[in-house]
Amino acid sequence: MIELDKKTQTFLSSKLLCVCPLCKKYIYGKDIDITKIDLSKIKRWPLSIVHCHAHNKHPLHALTIYLDANFSIRGREASGFLKIQT
Ligand SMILES: [Zn+2]
Repeated sequence: MIELDKKTQTFLSSKLLCVCPLCKKYIYGKDIDITKIDLSKIKRWPLSIVHCHAHNKHPLHALTIYLDANFSIRGREASGFLKIQT
């Protein structure tokens, strides 16, 4: 696993990545556990991360965030139709 140094971890955790287009929630690095991503397991960029949340009277929905290798947002997509089967 590639370890990020403490300074980078703190920076990424508090970094505002994007605003959810559906509920207007501010998504920060810590919301998607950005510092826990195992970079050595990533085969392909941009990386897609799904963040499920309920906010601002909006019921649970999924926000897909596309991150490039510099942890910059390349795209985002919200889906209000969600079914998680385990
Ligand atoms: Zn949202």
